[in-house]
Amino acid sequence: MNETLLAAERARICDYGRRMTADRLVVGSSGNISVRVGELIAVTPTGIEYADLTPDSISVLDPGGRRLAGDRPTSEVPLHLALYERDDVRAVVHTHSVHATAASMLVDQLPPVHYLLALFGGTVRTARYATFGTPELAASARAALRDRFGCLLANHGAVTVGGNLAAAYERAVQLEWLCQVWLTARAAGRPRPLPAGELAAVSEAILGYGAVGRERD
Ligand SMILES: [Zn+2]
Repeated sequence: MNETLLAAERARICDYGRRMTADRLVVGSSGNISVRVGELIAVTPTGIEYADLTPDSISVLDPGGRRLAGDRPTSEVPLHLALYERDDVRAVVHTHSVHATAASMLVDQLPPVHYLLALFGGTVRTARYATFGTPELAASARAALRDRFGCLLANHGAVTVGGNLAAAYERAVQLEWLCQVWLTARAAGRPRPLPAGELAAVSEAILGYGAVGRERD
């Protein structure tokens, strides 16, 4: 196996994997992270605790999902490959964070209650449930992510994407925070939505300033 292939990206995935555990976005070996460089994809392996990841263990796949280096990849490879069909997606972060997962059991989309939803291009949708690792889950996530940079996976977790790993990871943290805020407000009463049109306007302001362009490594 080729240990030098995408060496920098594989090291960065290990760092973010450990951050993901420290930030409590995942438990144990759940969730996964990938980065695309050209046609190649570096992705976390299956069944390894993030603390034990080494750059050599990170899988490198070709666009057809064939392994060129590293250990056996996560079972969610179909999800990652489907999202890389979008040109603007260069990193994918999949979490099982508590509040995002709880919200995924309650609604088909997060209501427009906070302007930071603009980081995702608008209201965050919930992808229809399908078994983990299946092409059906990949297709439902891809549909929920249309014109968006994050979605919930019904009764499962969350997925965020970006032009680089830092941006996709920041969205994973912010999505968890948004879900926690919304659930907290919802437990206390009926959350007031943003004024009509506000989320679209802020999304255009944030993403319209070349945010995606700036996200490129
Ligand atoms: Zn999962």
